[in-house]
Amino acid sequence: MKDVNAENIEFLSSGVIAPVKKWGAKWSLWAVHLVTSCCGVELAHAYASGYDAERWGSLNFGMMRQTNLIIVEGTITKKMARALRITWEQMPDPKFVILIGACGIEGGLFWNSYHITRPWKIIPVDYFVPGCPPTPEGLISAIRALQKKIERGEAKTTAEFREADLEKILGKGEKERKPPKPPLKIEPKPEIKIEPREVEWEFGKELVAKLSSKLPFAEVFVIDKNRVYIKSESKFYRKVAEVLEKEGFDHVKSLNVIDVLHEKKFIVECSVSSYSVKELMPVIVTFSVEISRENPRIKSLIDIWPSIDYQEREMHDFFGVWFEGNPWMGNKFLLAPEVETPLRKDFKLEEPSYVLEG
Ligand code: SF4
Repeated sequence: MKDVNAENIEFLSSGVIAPVKKWGAKWSLWAVHLVTSCCGVELAHAYASGYDAERWGSLNFGMMRQTNLIIVEGTITKKMARALRITWEQMPDPKFVILIGACGIEGGLFWNSYHITRPWKIIPVDYFVPGCPPTPEGLISAIRALQKKIERGEAKTTAEFREADLEKILGKGEKERKPPKPPLKIEPKPEIKIEPREVEWEFGKELVAKLSSKLPFAEVFVIDKNRVYIKSESKFYRKVAEVLEKEGFDHVKSLNVIDVLHEKKFIVECSVSSYSVKELMPVIVTFSVEISRENPRIKSLIDIWPSIDYQEREMHDFFGVWFEGNPWMGNKFLLAPEVETPLRKDFKLEEPSYVLEG
C-alpha cells in the first residue's frame, strides 16, 4: 500500500475530493471535553436540549485523538496550561480553537491573579466569544462562523494572528504602556477583631462552661448563636483538637491561615462540627492559634481528623505553613511548580507591561 505522502494530502485538500472533505469537517466539529471553569456551564447549556448544538454536527467527545475542536472555557491556570497545550498537540489536523469567556481573553475577574494565563498565548485561537459568562448563543454563533470558515476553505492547520499596525493605531515612538493599578485600597494595619457576643443561646453557655473546664489554658467564648471560638497558644493547638474530638466534634469544616504581615505572624484557624451528636450538629467551633511568620510550623491534625489532610496541603501551598506530621509537606498540591506561597500578603504579582516599538 502506498504511503500517505504530501501529494496525497494535497489531493485531499484541493483535488476533486476536497469539497467532500470540507463538508465532512464542517459538520463534524467535535469538541474535546476541557471544562476548566464556570463557562463550562454555558457550554453545557449550548449542547443541552434547549439549544441542541448537536444540530450543527458539533458533539462533545472524550478523546482528543478523535476530536478537531477545543472550546476553551474561561480560566486557564498556570497548572492547566500544560494540559491544554498537550491536548491541542495530540489532536489531528485540521484542528480549531474557540475561546469563550472574559477570563480566557484577558483574565476576566482574575486579571491580576497569581495563577492566570492568557490561553491564546498557549494555543492559536480561531474565534473568541466574550462575556462573563458568555451566552450559549455566542458559542453557537462561533461554531457557525467556524463552519463558514471551513466552507470557504480558509481552515488552516494552525491559525495565525493577523499583524496589526500598532504604529498606526497608537501613534509613533517607543513608549512603555502599563495597565492601570488594581482598584484596591489596602489597609496597612487591618484590625482582626474576634470578640465575645451576648446572644440568647442556653446550650452555647453550657458548652462554653464545659469546654472551659477542660481547656483552662484557653479563652472559650460565644461569638454568635451556634458559634463558639477558642483562642490559645500554639503549643496547645493539638490539645484543643483532642478535647473537641472527644466531645463529639468529628469532622473539620475548614482550615484557614490569615497572614498578619504587619505583626509578622500567621493566625491558623480551624473550624469543626459534628455529624454524630445531634445537639452539636448545628454548632461550629473555631479554634485558633498564632504562629511566627518567619518559621511557620505547627503540628498536623491528620491523625485526629484525617479529612484535614487536603486542607493542610492547601495551606502549605498558599502560605508555606509546615504542618509537622503531614507526609505531604514539601510537595506542591495545587500550584504550578514556579509559584511559591501566592496568598502571602507580600507575594509579588506579575505586572504585565506592553512595549510599543516604532
Ligand atoms: S468568564 Fe466568567 S463565567 Fe467564564 S470562567 Fe470567567 S468568571 Fe467564569
